Amino acid sequence: METIGHWIAGKPVATGGPFSPVYNPATGERAAEVCLANEATVDDAVRAATAAAADWSDSTLSRRAGLLFRLRDLIERHQDELAAIVTREHGKVHSDALGEVARGLESVEFACGIPALLRGEYSAEVSRGIDVHTVARPLGVVAGITPFNFPVMVPLWMLASAIACGNTFVLKPSERDPSASLRLAGLIADAGFPDGVVNVVQGGAPAVDALLTHPGVQAVSFVGSTPVARHVYETAARGGKRVQALGGAKNHLVVLPDADIDGAAAAAISAGYGSAGERCMAISVVVAVGAAADPLVAAIAARIPDIVVGPGDDEASMMGPLITAAHRDRVRSYVTGAEQEGARVVVDGAAAPVGVPAGGFFLGCSLVDQVRPGMRIYDDEIFGPVLAVVRVATYEEAVALVNANPYGNGVSLFTRDGGAARRFQRDVQVGMVGVNVAIPVPVAWHSFGGWKASLFGDSPIYGPAGIRFHTRPQVVTSRWPDATPSAIDLGFPSGR
Ligand code: NAD
Repeated sequence: METIGHWIAGKPVATGGPFSPVYNPATGERAAEVCLANEATVDDAVRAATAAAADWSDSTLSRRAGLLFRLRDLIERHQDELAAIVTREHGKVHSDALGEVARGLESVEFACGIPALLRGEYSAEVSRGIDVHTVARPLGVVAGITPFNFPVMVPLWMLASAIACGNTFVLKPSERDPSASLRLAGLIADAGFPDGVVNVVQGGAPAVDALLTHPGVQAVSFVGSTPVARHVYETAARGGKRVQALGGAKNHLVVLPDADIDGAAAAAISAGYGSAGERCMAISVVVAVGAAADPLVAAIAARIPDIVVGPGDDEASMMGPLITAAHRDRVRSYVTGAEQEGARVVVDGAAAPVGVPAGGFFLGCSLVDQVRPGMRIYDDEIFGPVLAVVRVATYEEAVALVNANPYGNGVSLFTRDGGAARRFQRDVQVGMVGVNVAIPVPVAWHSFGGWKASLFGDSPIYGPAGIRFHTRPQVVTSRWPDATPSAIDLGFPSGR
């Protein structure tokens, strides 16, 4: 059986056990095993990153930009291969995996502009003969800890801006689909980045904790579930590190009675069942306002049979399996338990769809109506192909529902009323808002981040926020000798 190892100082490194199984979710077969790093392996990776940091932080902006352009080109040329790796270990369909690669590539493209992004600030003659300038300096060794659901995109969100800013990087990907990170590390080496600039350690909680407490790590980026995000934020911040920790979500799609109901239904289906609901920006709650409810529920239910569920490498498939059997069973329990809680199951996808491989972790699409806060199906992040419908009477009730939810990652409003849409943006307590757009994931030259329990720390990720997160300002106040006054002055310098 294949053993998946680490990538340290420019080469693959395999360590002994413990190991964790890696499955092909479409067949249920145990396809490989991944080495789980202990403290010593994490230390090796941090040392490799530390050894590379001095030269790399001193490299010219044009050299860094040139290497990023080469990486951009290599990722584009290998996009099919990367997408196939994602499909094999994650299960998402190939077209969706290609979309993930494209959104990761966007972060590399943004980072290619690093010479312009790192332009400093300059104030001439703040006092007689004195100038002040601010430069953005790298932090040193930074770490990234990523979830299973975007094994190419999320590492690129973090590492593109980190290395562009002159830092070196240690990535700890999800142990459930670890291979994509190694292929990325190989492409980074092929692009010509020096050994040690990007390192990968595989592992679970012990590897994460070793990174969070390692004195050589200056900053930590995390994307994953809320309980782990909170742990990462608290532990790393306690150690004096800079932290951005993005957590889970429960995203609502609010449909006003004047909306294009067919368009809203299509959006709910695409955003709810795409990637089998395993996206942090997936829509999991449809909030049907007033008269929108009956036609909306009917339109969603009518279209669910069109969704072809099957292996991700089959071109006909629109939705693949879930990540593990245990996760599939957990997602199913929300549907089987919904009626007991007082909800109404309109479409029951709890049984495996027909025609899929017997051992695969497949589930059909479910639609559950009459859901209310306080029910498990509403309160928990399910992370599967289950759409819950909450019926409310008014716009105000819809906003109150969204704002009372502990998460604040994404939200969407479907309406034809521009005034309502404008008001909604101001009323809603959520970090990323869509207006007639179901998955409002910002492009790479904006930044991505939720509010409340969806983000710990004060920094969204990638884009301009990624550059700020991965640099610290240094302010230089200078005067040259021919302008130095000879008089002694013990007063505080004011320039006035
Ligand atoms: P997860 O929290 O289980 O794992 C994320 C990372 O943390 C993995 O690398 C894992 O190895 C590590 N980890 C797991 N348990 C740990 C522990 N106890 N201590 C230390 N480290 C631990 O998340 P997941 O299941 O891989 O991903 C799905 C979750 O990620 C969902 O909640 C989803 O909403 C969230 N997510 C959020 C965003 C966002 O941008 N906000 C994006 C993608 C995914």
